Amino acid sequence: MKIPKLKCLRCKHKWFPRKEKKPRFCPKCNSPYWDKPKKKKKKE
Ligand SMILES: [Zn+2]
Repeated sequence: MKIPKLKCLRCKHKWFPRKEKKPRFCPKCNSPYWDKPKKKKKKE
């Protein structure tokens, strides 16, 4: 069983979910849009 690592696109926090379902909020910044980038920005 593989649990994918989740990454918050807002605060860059990474964590492993406890449940199979995707969490609604980032555990760090509590953003409900943690899996959605705010803007399309290329900075690399
Ligand atoms: Zn976050």
